[in-house]
Order: sequence, then structure tokens, then C-alpha cells
Amino acid sequence: MAAYDFDLFVIGGGSAGVRCGRIAAGHGARVAVAEERFWGGTCVNVGCVPKKIMVNAAEYGAWAEDAAAFGWDLAVAGHDWAKLAAARDAEVGRLSGIYGKLLGGAGVTSFDARATFVDAHTLDVGGQRVTAERIVIAVGGTPTRLDIPGAELGLVSDDLFTLKALPKRSIVIGAGYIAVEFASILRGLGSEVDLLYRAALPLRGFDEDVRAAAAEALAANGIRLNPDTAPTRIARVDDHLMVSKSDNFMREADAVFFCTGRAPNTTGLGLDKAGIPTTAGGAIPVDDDHQTAQPHIYAIGDVIDRVNLTPMATAVGHALADTLFGNNPRRANYQNVPTAVFMVPPIATIGLTEADAAAIGPVDVYATHFTPMRHTISKRAGRRTLMKLVVCQRTQKVLGAHMLGEDSAEIMQGIGIAVAMGATKQDFDRTIGIHPTAAEEFVTLRTRTREAGVVQAAQ
Ligand code: NDP
Repeated sequence: MAAYDFDLFVIGGGSAGVRCGRIAAGHGARVAVAEERFWGGTCVNVGCVPKKIMVNAAEYGAWAEDAAAFGWDLAVAGHDWAKLAAARDAEVGRLSGIYGKLLGGAGVTSFDARATFVDAHTLDVGGQRVTAERIVIAVGGTPTRLDIPGAELGLVSDDLFTLKALPKRSIVIGAGYIAVEFASILRGLGSEVDLLYRAALPLRGFDEDVRAAAAEALAANGIRLNPDTAPTRIARVDDHLMVSKSDNFMREADAVFFCTGRAPNTTGLGLDKAGIPTTAGGAIPVDDDHQTAQPHIYAIGDVIDRVNLTPMATAVGHALADTLFGNNPRRANYQNVPTAVFMVPPIATIGLTEADAAAIGPVDVYATHFTPMRHTISKRAGRRTLMKLVVCQRTQKVLGAHMLGEDSAEIMQGIGIAVAMGATKQDFDRTIGIHPTAAEEFVTLRTRTREAGVVQAAQ
């Protein structure tokens, strides 16, 4: 008889956990996965998928208006929130169901229950004791609120997907991925939106030109930007909320969203019983093989707070399953991870920012701003496209590619392959453009805009 109930127990049925469990089972392991909330995790249920559907919805309003410039006579009577919510929820339900079925089809035992550690090989799974030789922690993260009076009156990102109606006036706090995406959705569907953030520009960590272009685009879309601003208090006044800001200015709203970061879901998991420490922020430290302090316990996905993106999580889960059970030891690559922010218009990027590249050595910077053809006709403000390449002066390798503009996420996936392969600027230059597209600008950037990092390199 086997010493343990399972070869592998995965805690968490999100992107990372489901992929890891499914692939491990395919390699012949006896696998169980526990999920306490919803199969598919944040991405499918309260993240990427429903968010993208709502971004699509927000874009249609502008497109319908723009159609007039192309000769269409469309009457837009308004937006039906309930209809959008029903369509979104049906798609989320379909995908979540597929996640559950994928596991069953692969021979994985699924538990619709919370799993917590009893000891380093034993879990309490909805009141049942289960043992496993190896355990993977893939419990993800959860949205946080700021610690200010009245914070409980504010909403978090999960709540957008259960709102019964569009708030007339919204305040979005923060300026990271979720904040600018939510601000774009709410504004695009017709809400008056204030974005409150503590930095001078949104999207800390992104290339400075992209950040500046993002601020311009958000403002052009009618989002009121409040940089260098911290909310100090939320209060209910009659039928609305009142948010106080650091300069004592008050702003009324019908909904306030905290988009101020996410925290790993490690509270109450019993990690102490398994001898696994966490960082001050609650993340589980792991080594390059995703091993925790216990060599037979691994942690993957948002719970390690490294690159909190779905495709990264699935890649890591897959590599771990191949390593442990597929006789194919390998690691997913955390370098050159392309990413997109689905604000309107979207941002997409791969590789180094100009500042990060310049800190390493001299770089050539190629940048262009232009109005895409569609909007030379529509005359819509806030649709200027930015494209930028950051090139190592010595090797001519493209170290970073950045874009703000329509279709940027679709374009950057292909550019990402080239950058990950180590393509040089000359490789880009000798590629023939597809005309007429915005994407062709990436292969026709002939004139260097500036060089950077030369002074640092000389020091
Ligand atoms: P981010 O870390 O991207 O942004 C958090 C925002 O909250 C920042 O603007 C930050 O400001 C602000 N903030 C944090 N603490 C405070 C504070 N004490 N007071 C005031 N402001 C504060 O987190 P998100 O929640 O937006 O997203 C979490 C992660 O999820 C992302 O980093 C990304 O990895 C992933 N994600 C990916 C998406 C995609 O691929 N399209 C979409 C959504 C999420 P500051 O910058 O000044 O610190």
C-alpha cells in the first residue's frame, strides 16, 4: 500500500494549480486538487476574463460614436449593464466549468473544499485528513484595502463583477494594472471617474514614456487624474460616499474602488504547522525550483508574489509537474515576460524599460508617436499610439519593446518572440512591414530618438 493518499496534492484550483495537477496526472501521478471558492481562480472568475469582457464592452461605446465619421448612421440608446453582466457571467461559468472538467478528464481527484496544513504531509480538506508525498501551494492572492477610516465602505476588484448597476460617479484608488483598467471600464461605460494615486504618473515600473502616454490617454478619455494624492477617509453621507484626500479636498462618489494591490492568500493556511515561513507581506519564499523551506512542498503562482500573471503561473505549474513526474527537469523563464495593461487604449510591453536598460549600459532609443489611421478619420482624442524600442548600443539587441495603442497586446505577443530570441535592431529593420498597419512602425523605426545610459556607463 502507498505510504500517502496522493503523490501530489495541489492546494488551489486556479491557473497555476490546475495546470500543475493536470500535467502531473498526465505523467501518471496520483493527484488531488482542492479549491474552496471557484475553479479557474482569480483569472477566470474575478480577473482577466470578466475584466477583458468589460473592457470590450467599454470600447464599443466609443466605436459606435466613431462609426459616424465613417458614414454610419447609428443611434446608440445607451448601455444595458444587466445584459453585459449576464453575458459575462455565462462565459465565466462556461470557462470555470471547463477547468473543473479538465481535471476530471485527467484523472485528478477534485475537492470542493478548503485545505489547510495539519503537518508537513497531512492536510485537513473540508474536515477530512488527506496525506500526500508532495504538496503544491497555489492559493493565489486577494485584493487589499488601504488602512483608512471607512475603508469597509469601499469596494475591491472582485466587487465589480457583482455590481447590479454602473455607479454614476466612481473613485478608483491606485494606478497599477487594475486601477487603470477599472477606470477605463467604468469611464467607457459612462461613469464619471476620478483616479487617485500617490505618484506623479500612473503605472509605476513601466517605461516613463509609456507612463506619460498613459496619463494623457486616460485624461483624454475623460478620467479625472488626481496624482500625488492619498485618500485619508471614506464616509457615507446620505446616499453617497465622500472621499477625503490628502489636501483636504472632498470628492463625492457612488462607488469607491481600492485597486491598491493584492496580498498572498496565506492567512489561516496552517503554514506554521508545516514549517513554512512567509515574508512580511504574506508571500511564500521559494528557490529557483519553487521549493519552499520544506523540500517536498512547493509554491507557485501569485502566492509567491514574483511575476503575478496568469501565463507565468501556468508555465511554472507545467514546468514543475514535468520536473517532478515527467522525467523532464526544467524551469519556466522569468525573463522577458510580455505583459499588457488593458486600459483604453491598451499598453503592452516586453523586456527592459529605458531606465532599467540604461542603468546597465548605453542604449539607443527609438520612439514614435502617431495617430493611427482609424483615428485620423474618427478624430477621437486620446488615441495616439506610442511605440518604442530600447536597443543595446554594443550588441544592437532589442532589450525592450513598449507600446501604448490599439491592438498593442496582440502586436506585442509576436514582438515578444523576437525579443526573447535575442533579435537585433537590424533583424527588426530587415523585416518587411505589413501595410497599412500600426504594427509596421516596429520595423520602420529608422532614426534614433536619443541615446541613454552613456553617462552611467562612463562612470
Ligand atoms: P499593482 O501593484 O499593479 O498596483 C497597486 C497600486 O496601488 C499602485 O498604484 C500603488 O502605488 C498603489 N498603492 C499600493 N499601496 C498603496 C498605499 N499604501 N497608498 C496608496 N497607494 C498604494 O497592483 P494591482 O492590484 O493593480 O494588480 C496586482 C497584480 O495583478 C499586478 O501587479 C499584475 O501583476 C496583476 N494583474 C495583471 C493584469 C494584466 O495582466 N492585465 C491585470 C490586473 C492585475 P505605487 O505604484 O505608488 O506603489
